[in-house]
Amino acid sequence: MTYVTRFAPSPTGPLHLGHAYSAILAHDMAVQHGGRFLLRIEDIDRERSKPEWEAQIYDDLAWLGLSWETPVLRQSDRLETYGQALTTLWDRGLLYPCTCTRRDILDSASAPQEGVPHFGPDGIVYPGTCRAEVSGPLPSEVTLRLDVGKALDLIKEPLTFTEEGRGPDGETGAIIAQDLLSTVGDIVLSRKTFLGSYHLSVVLDDAAQGVTHVVRGQDLFEATKIHVLLQSLMDLPTPTYHHHALIRDENGKRLAKRDDAKAIAKFRAEGATPEDIRRLVGLA
Ligand code: GLU
Repeated sequence: MTYVTRFAPSPTGPLHLGHAYSAILAHDMAVQHGGRFLLRIEDIDRERSKPEWEAQIYDDLAWLGLSWETPVLRQSDRLETYGQALTTLWDRGLLYPCTCTRRDILDSASAPQEGVPHFGPDGIVYPGTCRAEVSGPLPSEVTLRLDVGKALDLIKEPLTFTEEGRGPDGETGAIIAQDLLSTVGDIVLSRKTFLGSYHLSVVLDDAAQGVTHVVRGQDLFEATKIHVLLQSLMDLPTPTYHHHALIRDENGKRLAKRDDAKAIAKFRAEGATPEDIRRLVGLA
């Protein structure tokens, strides 16, 4: 099987050293294995995605010396596919509409009978306030959550994935416990403001692009459990995962899009070379 990796940035800000590390690593792994390196633009959130950031992504990656296959897959072109997947999950009774605001979720998760709110990969674990049996056609422009309890009931095999990198606590592989309902909760699979969600689209896109090795930061290790659940529900293959350590600033804080000081463009403007960037992220 051809070895296929990808880099999947969201065009919502400048790429920084952490992105450079992830992209170079995924690229080099594909080259080492005689495989393919793909780029995917995760612009599903139309409000936050900007064409100028997308242009900057191509520019920075080309400057780093990376090459990728074209045409590049953009999530904004895939809404029909996301809609079809949502319809199928809805028809199977696995989704329900949710009208809770962030405040509602915080309030109900903090109610005395609930104890302290639990945090999962998407923030506070949803306490299930809107969970209900549904019927009729898939509604539009509503938040849709996956009924994780029901989903787990459908899954026969234990959920597992192969980890070739390391999780944040040094995990080398993972059997996903059946406690996803309490540790992750009913995740959002479609938003009121746009069709789909990060978790839904990433799983559908990795499968559609034939990605065999997902190379990405350890901050997404917990989200992988959701992705494996979705792959199992939608009968999609589970790739091998390679989560890598995060590049941190001088204070040990992980880099964020707003950390312009570490933006690749800033290093470029100051005269750094692509080799300097490789050295800085430890991939020289
Ligand atoms: N689009 C995500 C980000 O920019 C990465 C998703 C992934 O690699 O699975 O953080």
